[in-house]
Amino acid sequence: MADKQALVIFGATGDLALKMITPSLYFLDMEHHLPDDLIIVGVARSVMDDAAFAAKVRDSVARHAGADFNEEVWSRFAGRLSYCAGDVTDDAPYRKLAERLKDCAIPLCYLSTSPDFFGPIARHLKTSGLVHAETRIAVEKPIGHDLQSSRDIEAALEESFPTDRILRVDHYLGKDTVQNLIALRFANTLFEPLWNKDSIEHVQISVAETVGVERRWSYYDSYGALRDIVQNHMLQLLCLIAMEPPPDLEAESVHAEKVKVLRSLRPIGAAEVERETVRGQYRKGYTESGAVPGYTEETGGGVSDTETFVALRAHIDNWRWAGVPFFLRTGKRLPQRATQIVVQFKPVPHSIFHRTMNVPNRLLIRLQPQEEIALQIMNKTPELEAVRLAPVTLDLNLIDAFRTTRRRIAYERLIFDALKGSAFLFVRRDEVETAWSWIDRIAAGWKERDMRPLPYTAGTWGPSSSFALTERQGYSWVE
Ligand code: NAP
Repeated sequence: MADKQALVIFGATGDLALKMITPSLYFLDMEHHLPDDLIIVGVARSVMDDAAFAAKVRDSVARHAGADFNEEVWSRFAGRLSYCAGDVTDDAPYRKLAERLKDCAIPLCYLSTSPDFFGPIARHLKTSGLVHAETRIAVEKPIGHDLQSSRDIEAALEESFPTDRILRVDHYLGKDTVQNLIALRFANTLFEPLWNKDSIEHVQISVAETVGVERRWSYYDSYGALRDIVQNHMLQLLCLIAMEPPPDLEAESVHAEKVKVLRSLRPIGAAEVERETVRGQYRKGYTESGAVPGYTEETGGGVSDTETFVALRAHIDNWRWAGVPFFLRTGKRLPQRATQIVVQFKPVPHSIFHRTMNVPNRLLIRLQPQEEIALQIMNKTPELEAVRLAPVTLDLNLIDAFRTTRRRIAYERLIFDALKGSAFLFVRRDEVETAWSWIDRIAAGWKERDMRPLPYTAGTWGPSSSFALTERQGYSWVE
């Protein structure tokens, strides 16, 4: 019988582990969501002792927690932390782990490393006897850079872990607003009857960043916006907007509906890429932080045909969505940081308000910078003389609605579920692979057509042809 439980974080000194994973664990501890007997072991190559690792984690947690940092909680949390130095491709760190964790159950190993290490870590965990019946392994996106490499990684992982114990992380799914999307659609009668081609004109999904690639140039250059953002985060959001009601909230039921959406995506290949997609790459310009270099002039940069901006028009070929365009747009060095979904309803069939424009209803689901849901409806303005209309927003600010004082990190929910063994908020293998086959076809189309990224000035909304993409159909991007 195990005395304790252990969570092992591989890549524990890296950006993601310090910025997101360890602060999330601290907040879970603060709210008493961690098992009392849970210990947390960090693994990476940097040589340091437990105290030095705890000091690194403390810096990062304190920065994240700000006024919520509490010495008492920290001291409880610090008591859980230890560190094991070693190269994950060698046997040595696993021998040390096996010795240190011999009396522990290991519910979760979190792989916050490059995907190149996923297979070797899984294999070493198994051969060192660190994998128990209940052990799950969480892996970060991106899983590969195309369908084949994703299959190779999965095959390497599945040599040591059954597929239902591999938790594929897409942190967007840990965000409250994203889960709320499911509640909004399936816990209210209001929207579902309208949620189809008869009432919805088009949908926009945008992930706009003001930052450039900066220190991550060499990583980013081998991916680009299509693989780094569209393949995972944006297609996951599209699935939640477009999927049919699942019979229940079991992980398998939700995954099955999401895969159906991905399978219904109309292929965009060489014959369509020039009409349906726009690629861009930022040049030097100005943002709110002042003058910024172009993509190829970033530190470590060089000549490159990698896109930092993508806009595309997708179609879901099924009964519910036939003819409804889904516009997706993502880019770096854009004027605002905003992740949002806009569901634009059709205009009224006949307007009786001749003197004023009737703006169609619009449901806005914002994930960043704040999490909020807003419904734009038409309202009469208060003047006496005439009936004039103006769009008014019914605003549901989640922080105000639930009087929460703190906005959770998406990873808190994901780690909480992973420790409990719930797979609902993780991505199933066939979702990853179906998404890759759609994305691979676009990438191959770009190559075949020699469609290189168009330049755009940093601090603008991307190449002008991305406006043409929506305007051709009489719509415009909502910013
Ligand atoms: P990172 O900052 O480069 O961290 C990598 C970690 O792996 C470090 O702790 C590094 O520590 C360790 N490491 C590297 N080689 C190792 C080896 N041979 N043996 C043992 N440890 C090794 O990367 P990251 O940004 O945290 O990203 C980690 C993963 O998460 C990547 O797959 C990334 O794509 C994904 N991701 C990151 C973010 C983010 O915001 N950063 C967001 C989403 C997904 P040592 O150098 O000390 O060994």
